[in-house]
Amino acid sequence: MKKGIALGLAALGIFSAAAAAALSDRVVGYDIRVELDPEAKTLRGRQILSWRNTSEEAVGSLPFHLYLNAFKNNRTTFMRESGGAHRGFRNDPGAWGWIDLRSVRTSRGEDLSSSWRHIQPDDGNLDDETVAEILLSQPVPPRGTIVLEIEFEARLPKVFARSGYAGDFFMVGQWFPKIGVLQDGVWNCHQYHANSEFFADFGEYRVEITVPPRFVVGATGPRVSTRTNPNGTRTYVHAQGDVHDFAWAACPDFVEFRERFVLDSPPVETEMIFLVHKSHLGQKERYFRSLRQGLEFFSRNYGPYPYETITLVDPAPGAMAAGGMEYPTLFTAGTMSFLPAGIRFPELVTIHEFGHGYWYGMVASNEFEEAWLDEGINTYSEIKAMDHYYGPDRSFIDLPGLKIGDMFYHRLAVIGSGRFDPILRRSWEFVGGGSYGLNVYSKAALALLTLERILGEDIMAKVMRTYFEKWKFRHPRSEDFIRVAEEVSGRELDWFFDQVLRSPDKLDYAVSSVSSEKEAVPTGRFGAGAVTAGPGGEEAGQIIRSEVVVWRAGEWVFPQEIEVVFEDGSKVREAWDGRERWRKFVYRRPSRLVSAAVDPEGKCVLDVNWANNSKRLDPPKAPLRKHTLGLVGWVQHLLSLIQL
Ligand SMILES: [Zn+2]
Repeated sequence: MKKGIALGLAALGIFSAAAAAALSDRVVGYDIRVELDPEAKTLRGRQILSWRNTSEEAVGSLPFHLYLNAFKNNRTTFMRESGGAHRGFRNDPGAWGWIDLRSVRTSRGEDLSSSWRHIQPDDGNLDDETVAEILLSQPVPPRGTIVLEIEFEARLPKVFARSGYAGDFFMVGQWFPKIGVLQDGVWNCHQYHANSEFFADFGEYRVEITVPPRFVVGATGPRVSTRTNPNGTRTYVHAQGDVHDFAWAACPDFVEFRERFVLDSPPVETEMIFLVHKSHLGQKERYFRSLRQGLEFFSRNYGPYPYETITLVDPAPGAMAAGGMEYPTLFTAGTMSFLPAGIRFPELVTIHEFGHGYWYGMVASNEFEEAWLDEGINTYSEIKAMDHYYGPDRSFIDLPGLKIGDMFYHRLAVIGSGRFDPILRRSWEFVGGGSYGLNVYSKAALALLTLERILGEDIMAKVMRTYFEKWKFRHPRSEDFIRVAEEVSGRELDWFFDQVLRSPDKLDYAVSSVSSEKEAVPTGRFGAGAVTAGPGGEEAGQIIRSEVVVWRAGEWVFPQEIEVVFEDGSKVREAWDGRERWRKFVYRRPSRLVSAAVDPEGKCVLDVNWANNSKRLDPPKAPLRKHTLGLVGWVQHLLSLIQL
């Protein structure tokens, strides 16, 4: 074992007693030294990686993500799929990014530098170098551990798709050679796709970051030491266990703020670190407040935040393409120098990205294959938190004359969209970025809000807490979430999840027609009696016949409630299993029908058209349900004009 490697492993505590107290199974250990050249925009790194074979089979090759190669040329899989655009930002074709492996050696001193190659497990695109495979001369035995020393050089792209530089601002994410995940004896190591985030094993990280002295640095985990080097550069050492990634940011224009966050119940104590760009200082209180809210809400509702630090990075002006991204114990938010308080963009982004510390950070699902498990569950949590702190009717926009709740913002995304894909689909198999986004974020969140209204708020809260508690520091699949929901609620839920996760269709129930007519007085011959003469007319006590036809306008079958209101104030509630295409309800009463509504409480927030959920006989003096009209109804109407 080389001295450097032994030192690195000692520092990592890989074989130490500290690992015994681990929260996760710590399959990997990374000890990385990296130096930033801010002029050349390059990184020079040396990493000692330990990887433990958790399977019962010997493993003869190790695949690595080389994510920065997504930005190497215009023929990579990422660039082909995205067309060079990501979340509304374009890449700079004069500022490509890449990562090269310089050397690979085992702890026995064996040089593997010539025994690796790029592979393309997803699409065979030979221009894509985002996955490399290292072939071992001696396989890693079952339950054995291998230690590799890897030297690499990387160039950061001009900030694009979460990583890169803008002037002196550096967001360094997905920057080091990162081993895939061995699951059931099979490697899971996908190429970097336009519509996909990441997946990795838990472990322990220790990273030494060297930068010129003018830079302010933030990184995953607490800072364990700082030193000034003979050449004047500064080195910041961060270490964190039980995480599956490591990111850092550096900028001379960051102003650093630190604040302790303490919660009694459940007990939480952590240090909030804010790196706010100097041009955004006027917005900093909004970040502080939102992060406190995130810590409080998630700790109380899902489980206590367990890490020593949480770092918020505020991207520099011109670096918004690095904003709104999560890494373990560090995330990027985003704001502008001037943003009215009623546009809660920094609040929403802060709570959302902090939330990923739970749904992705700790509950580490596979973002390549089942993105809804982090984005959908996290968007659901974001809506719950935003509504809790700001009110459901104005949690996103609260301006004079314009109020939009976070849930309605996501409804607007879903109701006006085409239906090409189900929620559960590998990220790169969606028809496009729009379909990926509306399905895995908005539609999945609305599905969970609908489930909450079906199960009841208390049971849903228990589902979420149980899911977090059971699957934190592990890699759950969709079936695991469904099983928790079924176990906690005691209900069979395949009918729900099969539709919302696996079918691209829609949920839409409508009141098709309502009528209310006085029944004519009997006229004609009845039995052996005489013919009564004359036309039917009105009589006191005459019966009124009312009809309501409800209609399943969408493909999904959800049980529905129908509420029918009569002029005398009486109400009738009907239950319908929702299976047939339509159902007619007939009433013979002394009172006229006033209105009928399907899903009168608005439980089915997945219903793509609420404007057709109710009908009145008379022109309405006031809307039957406020939110079916007003702004949302109006926008929905506009969207329906262009919806095919
Ligand atoms: Zn997200």
